[in-house]
Amino acid sequence: MDLRDVPAPDLEDPLFQPYWAGAAEGKLVLPRCSGCERVNWPPRSVCPHCRSTESAWAEHQPHGTLFSWTVVGRATAPGYHEVPYAVGIVALDDAPVRLMGTIVGAEPSALVMDMPMSARFAPAGSSPEFTLVQWEPTADLSATPTNPGS
Ligand SMILES: [Zn+2]
Repeated sequence: MDLRDVPAPDLEDPLFQPYWAGAAEGKLVLPRCSGCERVNWPPRSVCPHCRSTESAWAEHQPHGTLFSWTVVGRATAPGYHEVPYAVGIVALDDAPVRLMGTIVGAEPSALVMDMPMSARFAPAGSSPEFTLVQWEPTADLSATPTNPGS
């Protein structure tokens, strides 16, 4: 992957601006409805649960479990030339929402359902404010057990 080639979204879009600003600081920031206190993702101008138009953004722990994933075998997206790679959906540990992102740090064949995942914040595109949230297995799958007797 060469994330410098990934086209940046509109980082000033008011619906997403706090998310992108948080990611640029290495934080996972999501909107919480001020009416019913639910975390909504993706952000919406009107809460789908209570119709409130007020929300506040809060930082969340960048940890979750792998809910699902797919393996991309054909390079078609700018910045994603090396295939295969996996794109996953991660269920956050501290909020009932799922986030999608590229999975790094593990071969797609090593992925398993419900495996612990951690967010990784990767600079992308040509703007210093553009940071992608990627996911990687929390445990190091490549680690080999150490032999205390040797
Ligand atoms: Zn609500």
